[in-house]
Amino acid sequence: NGSVRINMANVDSPLQIFVRAKKKINDIFVEIDDYVKDAVTFMHAVAGEKEIATAQDVANVEAYISKVQAIREVLKRDHMKVAFFGRTSNGKSTVINAMLHDKILPSGIGHTTNCFLQVEGSDTDDAFLRTEGSEEKRNVQSVSQLGHALCASRLQECALVHVYWPRELCALLRDDVVLVDSPGVDVTPNLDEWIDKYCLDADVFVLVANAESTLMVTEKNFFHKVSTKISQPNIFILNNRWDASASEPEYLDQVRTQHAERCVDFLSRELRVCTPKEAEERIFFISAKEALLTRMREREKPVTSPTLADGHQVRYFEFVDFERKFEECISQSAVRTKFAQHSRRGKNIAADVMAVLDLIYNTATERKSAMVEKQRILHEQLTSIEDQLTAVTKQMKEKINRMVESVEHKVSLTLSQE
Ligand code: GDP
Repeated sequence: NGSVRINMANVDSPLQIFVRAKKKINDIFVEIDDYVKDAVTFMHAVAGEKEIATAQDVANVEAYISKVQAIREVLKRDHMKVAFFGRTSNGKSTVINAMLHDKILPSGIGHTTNCFLQVEGSDTDDAFLRTEGSEEKRNVQSVSQLGHALCASRLQECALVHVYWPRELCALLRDDVVLVDSPGVDVTPNLDEWIDKYCLDADVFVLVANAESTLMVTEKNFFHKVSTKISQPNIFILNNRWDASASEPEYLDQVRTQHAERCVDFLSRELRVCTPKEAEERIFFISAKEALLTRMREREKPVTSPTLADGHQVRYFEFVDFERKFEECISQSAVRTKFAQHSRRGKNIAADVMAVLDLIYNTATERKSAMVEKQRILHEQLTSIEDQLTAVTKQMKEKINRMVESVEHKVSLTLSQE
């Protein structure tokens, strides 16, 4: 079907920090699971008549089995989540497509995303859609079909549609990145609802701005709200449509400096989510349209493409640079927020089970030494009885001997007198 499979794991990708951490923590929880189950089996053996473990101890440890199971389920599903925001037509869908190296989301004139679209990896070879709250899966073969399916379903603005795309076709999806496209921040009064529903667990936010204009109040407002609900959100700003600058090269540096200063100011002084120096590393001037085109050509997909404007290579490198910094940021943030809490819980569970086993061990040792002491006392008592018996027997023997002697004496005396 013309699709290029990306089978080789990109071991250099910063996303591997998350991928490896996820594998490791999943393996550790398999071990914790075994440990808890072994402990339960052992405790059953020493409970009951033996009374070394109490029924309560057994029940306490047994309760950990389902807790560990629940954590394992969550861990298996954990992913890195990035949410894209910005005004309608700034190029959110195009940025996502460029990052996925394929035209997955519909974009362009005539189509505006009027719901939330969450693109995630599918374990099968098929691409399909599922609306949140419904079990129905609809196969999609192409972008236009996806666009039609979205229009036909007359979704509410706040609805969430899952787009499952074969993992093997996109490196980001294969490495457990989930990408969320949003309706334009200019079309909704329900920013709060959006944030509560779809953003609280996002590891990274990408604001797709239009380099042809300045940051809009609606765009800024959205992020003001985000930063009241999430402490220190990770925000990247993409000044998209930077290819427009090619037509006015004489103003290029001036415009870029002006945009950059405003963006730095917004992130560091207005939102206070990072220092000005950190903010500089979060701002990029790109052309998503060119990046997508370049990648479609690399994959030898048929594209009706105009020639790219001057400076497209520089803009493409900047896009690649954005992706690298984004990957570093999202993987580190996700490891911290998703796994730190679970590794603490895992440690506590192991420590609790160990404490119970320690207690059982101590009870058993105390019982053993009490029994040894009892035996020692009994032994002493027996020895003293034995000694007494020996003494008494000796005395008796002597007494009998003396009696026999005296009787013999008396008998011989009587005989001699006669
Ligand atoms: P969204 O509504 O934010 O998702 O925007 P889309 O991704 O649908 O893009 C809207 C229109 O802008 C489409 O026709 C895109 O081809 C075009 N577009 C997106 N990125 C760029 C860009 O970097 N340069 C130019 N010139 N056009 C772009």
